[in-house]
Amino acid sequence: MTVLGPLSHERLGVTDAHNHVWISPVPGADPSSPVLDQFDSIQQELVEYRLAGGASLLDCQPGGCGRDGNRLARLAWASGVNLIACTGFHRKKYYPPDHWLWAASSDQAAQYFISELERGLSETLASATPVRAGFIKIALEADWEDIPQAALEGAAMAAVQTRALVEIHTEKGEVAEDACRYFSDLGVLPSQLVLCHMDKRPDLGLHAELAHFGALLEYDTFFRPKYDPSRNLWPLLEAMAQAGCADSLALATDLAESAMYHAIGGGPGLQSLPTLIKRQLSVRGFPEPAIRQMLGENIARRLAGLT
Ligand SMILES: [Zn+2]
Repeated sequence: MTVLGPLSHERLGVTDAHNHVWISPVPGADPSSPVLDQFDSIQQELVEYRLAGGASLLDCQPGGCGRDGNRLARLAWASGVNLIACTGFHRKKYYPPDHWLWAASSDQAAQYFISELERGLSETLASATPVRAGFIKIALEADWEDIPQAALEGAAMAAVQTRALVEIHTEKGEVAEDACRYFSDLGVLPSQLVLCHMDKRPDLGLHAELAHFGALLEYDTFFRPKYDPSRNLWPLLEAMAQAGCADSLALATDLAESAMYHAIGGGPGLQSLPTLIKRQLSVRGFPEPAIRQMLGENIARRLAGLT
């Protein structure tokens, strides 16, 4: 389900599995929260992404912390990139402290998520063509107790009822294994789970185990020097592919800050996925089918409910 309507998963092509293409300022949120609202530059960057071979992108900003479904639809229309929006919740610091969801019951949270998946994102319901969410995004904290429990349970209930994909922000990979247990205990299928930012915890044994469990692992530190990708991300990627786990990986650039945008801050930009990253995968000898899987097919199949 893209912001412009349903599309066969076979037509998603090269797909960035975790990114941000619009974040409105959020009054009352933590002052360090990212803002990404330069419409023309973002549109230009999306066009560059498409011209470089990118076709689709998952936008990971849920409602209440800067998402604007109407703008996402305009960006998709203007750029020709298939954008897939999310419902769910991000880390609390990105919202005003009194955001309604933190006081809601798990049932209320589930109803809200289901409505955004089935009817439309709340900010688009007044429009003639509401924009539907294509997946659920949630955020874990480093400590399990710090995660808003009712919202978490609501997300699991919505995932069971709709079979939507759940993209899970992890704090550097922390408590990823607890999340797998939690969701499968509540009836969510392993193939519905995408564990994000896992390359910040480059533990090959753990990653192979999570892959065999059936979860998809998302890696995105290609342009984050602080995580030393040449010593962590790339050897991990190679080892996972050699272990036969390329069908459990999804790659992304997660440009949550405008400085990472090429057209705004001179950063690597959205088009680095179909250019620099794809080229590096070829240079390092990854087989073409594995490259296609990691750059789109894996996430596309799972969005469609396939394994
Ligand atoms: Zn993100």
